[in-house]
Amino acid sequence: MQAIKLWQELQTEWGCGIVYIRGGSYRLAFNAESQMEMSARIEQEQAAGLDVAWLGPAETRDHLPFIREDVSILGSSYCASDGTANPLLTMRHLARLAAECGVRIKTQEAVVSLKIKEDLIKSVVTTKAEYQSKTVINTAGPWAASLLEPFGLHLPIQKKLSKILITESVPPLFQGFVSFDNGYLRQAADGNFHLGIKSTPAITDEKSVSLEDFNLISCYLVPLFPFLAELNIMRAFSGITGWTPDSLPVIDKAPGLENLYVAAGYSAHGFCLGPLVGKLLAQWIVEGKKPLDLEPLAWERFTSD
Ligand SMILES: Cc1cc2nc3c(=O)[nH]c(=O)nc-3n(C[C@H](O)[C@H](O)[C@H](O)COP(=O)(O)OP(=O)(O)OC[C@H]3O[C@@H](n4cnc5c(N)ncnc54)[C@H](O)[C@@H]3O)c2cc1C
Repeated sequence: MQAIKLWQELQTEWGCGIVYIRGGSYRLAFNAESQMEMSARIEQEQAAGLDVAWLGPAETRDHLPFIREDVSILGSSYCASDGTANPLLTMRHLARLAAECGVRIKTQEAVVSLKIKEDLIKSVVTTKAEYQSKTVINTAGPWAASLLEPFGLHLPIQKKLSKILITESVPPLFQGFVSFDNGYLRQAADGNFHLGIKSTPAITDEKSVSLEDFNLISCYLVPLFPFLAELNIMRAFSGITGWTPDSLPVIDKAPGLENLYVAAGYSAHGFCLGPLVGKLLAQWIVEGKKPLDLEPLAWERFTSD
């Protein structure tokens, strides 16, 4: 909920044209197991104050009339405050805001090792230089764990591959994000539909999207949303995400290293959570006290039996 508030601030107070739209999100239940799992989650989320509700079959169809008529649907979990934003514009705006605060962003320069003395990181060695630093934050996403392995630190992050197809642009149909057990779709502000399926384990860092992927994604989505059969696919993209065993990120200091922070393992929710995590981490580093919000994301949950 704090992340949602921050996205609103980014859009309005910071003047970022990030196309943040609160169109709500729907998670469809096609079987009793999904329905039960969603009901339990709704209870938890409502208790935490989230604006989420269960919609029955008729109400779900009222909201989403484009679901194929003869598909039997049990209902959906609906969160009105969920939203989407344009990631490319967001990154550009955040980089601009950071630069205004004096941050220098270096690209095409990989970190190859960290130099440690006693319980402190002394410097970061890259392919181009060596940087001394009082504080280091490892935000290398799915690759964060490999930078820590040389010190015997095991961060349990599994790499997964997500692929998305993008259709031609069509007039607005709806603003929300719709997902189900095997996939999801949303219509971007410029009219293109983004179509995806559940991510799969990534054995390598290879990210190409094949004709087979096109067929697979279409096979999951077109039978549920028949209007998609009429749309041309214009392009596709893919990316590697880092997953922890409980699908929550690790936002913590690395065990035994006083000045090394880690923020990784967002389990495909890092775009939403990233700005808030950045804010909380900055608060922790500047004030020297861990914000309470970060306690459940401690590394320790994977080290203690
Ligand atoms: C197709 C797709 C759809 C998604 N949809 C959503 C969504 O709807 N909502 C949501 O919240 N999230 C979504 N995500 C997930 C989101 O993109 C990630 O959770 C988020 O990008 C994680 O941010 P990060 O900075 O931790 O890692 P990353 O974005 O992976 O960034 C890590 C960076 O570290 C760099 N790096 C790695 N190793 C080194 C090194 N040795 N030296 C220097 N740099 C290094 C990498 O090149 C990379 O730039 C999606 C992801 C994909 C792929």
